[in-house]
Amino acid sequence: MRVAVASFEFEGNSLSPRRDGRADFTRKGMCEGAAVLAAASGKRIALSGGIDTLAAAGAEVVPLLLANGGTGGCVTDEMFAYACDVIVAGAAAAGPWDGVYLALHGAMITETDGDPEGTLLTALRQALGPAVPVAVSLDLHAHVTEAMVEAADIVCGYETYPHVDAYETGAKAAALLVRTMRGEIRPAMALAKLNALLPVLGMATLGDAPMAEVAAASREMERRGVLSVSYFPVQPWLDGADVGIAGLAVTDGDTAAAEAAATAVADAMWTRRARFLLPAFTPEDAVAEALNRPERTVLLVDGSDAIGGGAAGDEAAVLAALLALAPGVPAAVSLVGAAAVAQAAAAGEGARAVFTLGVQRLAVEAEVVRLADGRFTYDGGPFAGAEATIGPAAVLQAGAVTILVGSHAVYEHTDEHYRAAGIDIGACRMAAFKQLMNFRKLLSADVGFVPVHGPGATPLDLTAVAWNRRVRPFWPADAMAEPPRLPTVSRLFGGA
Ligand SMILES: [Zn+2]
Repeated sequence: MRVAVASFEFEGNSLSPRRDGRADFTRKGMCEGAAVLAAASGKRIALSGGIDTLAAAGAEVVPLLLANGGTGGCVTDEMFAYACDVIVAGAAAAGPWDGVYLALHGAMITETDGDPEGTLLTALRQALGPAVPVAVSLDLHAHVTEAMVEAADIVCGYETYPHVDAYETGAKAAALLVRTMRGEIRPAMALAKLNALLPVLGMATLGDAPMAEVAAASREMERRGVLSVSYFPVQPWLDGADVGIAGLAVTDGDTAAAEAAATAVADAMWTRRARFLLPAFTPEDAVAEALNRPERTVLLVDGSDAIGGGAAGDEAAVLAALLALAPGVPAAVSLVGAAAVAQAAAAGEGARAVFTLGVQRLAVEAEVVRLADGRFTYDGGPFAGAEATIGPAAVLQAGAVTILVGSHAVYEHTDEHYRAAGIDIGACRMAAFKQLMNFRKLLSADVGFVPVHGPGATPLDLTAVAWNRRVRPFWPADAMAEPPRLPTVSRLFGGA
């Protein structure tokens, strides 16, 4: 078995001004060819799970590309064309293949393309022909499209949120690819989608949350013989007519069963939709609420400026609320502000100055406590084991409020970025995070949280967004009795 493998992961956000080009992907460790195996070795990313599973099955694994852009606004057309060329032209030039495995996110957008994964997979299919099975792993927040389902044979999504199973999802897709290459199974795949969005803050697959029930029902379908069942509650900040929550299933040759399972998963999310809503506070109310909480440390979850959802991480509304309402209470805040970092570096450690922070251009008099390189290693999550950096960073102290200023917006897992800068959030009464879910890993009897609804590119209220392309009626903007179904798509490996 000779298998080409590649990753090209990016989560887009139509409301974010960020643009990620080739230099950004390079900074995040992009590599090609043989270097991919070394870069993926020992990691807990999806690509590593795919590679390890294929190698263990005796396949010859030929790596083409490792490109993980994390999250942001969109990928530049130049970067997308480059990655497509490495994967598609690379696969065409180095074949023949028995199979292909790709680790994608599934919610990428580019400057001009609302479905780049569909474009990539369609081009790959044209290069490979219909007989080569293509397996894909996706993030749980993927925007799975008709084009993707029509061009791939096996699609598996993460089962967990917070994401702790990227490696296992790559392994799951690759294992089904191995069985397909051996002729043991003939994948039939179906996608069922609803014109509905759900709030990300309520998407946890933990405890008694609604997605935990959807996950349990999906695993039960797999126990009963469906090869793979995935749920895609979708990255909601994508402005597209076909963006919606979806179920996807892969069976052994039974298209009708795949359609039934996919529909059941989509409907399982739909019937629980009201339970996804969690109350959130304005920044000022959140600080007041946190001060009344009994826990030692309260996490202020700035969900509207969630870097993992594609936001820029440069909103200072929570910082402003802390400085106004609780300047003497130990707290930690992080935000992006390259100019302030440069100013702090020029002033030097120990200097005092007035810094301009956030898109609000908040003037903050602070002491430069520490300068840092911003580098850290993820200790879990979808990028577990991978290195990352918030870029040159400065730790500023304003009263009892410690401010970590970085130069780049980088996906937040838990508190790795704080720890790398010498900040112990456990010693703080309040600690702010720019994310929607991974903070739950920090919760305990001593650590609670308050969701914040402030400014930013990941607004918690999905009805307040000025969508350009969404089709009405859609949930939650419009009341409706029946599930707003979009066309179901299916594909049988090798054709009907
Ligand atoms: Zn995700």
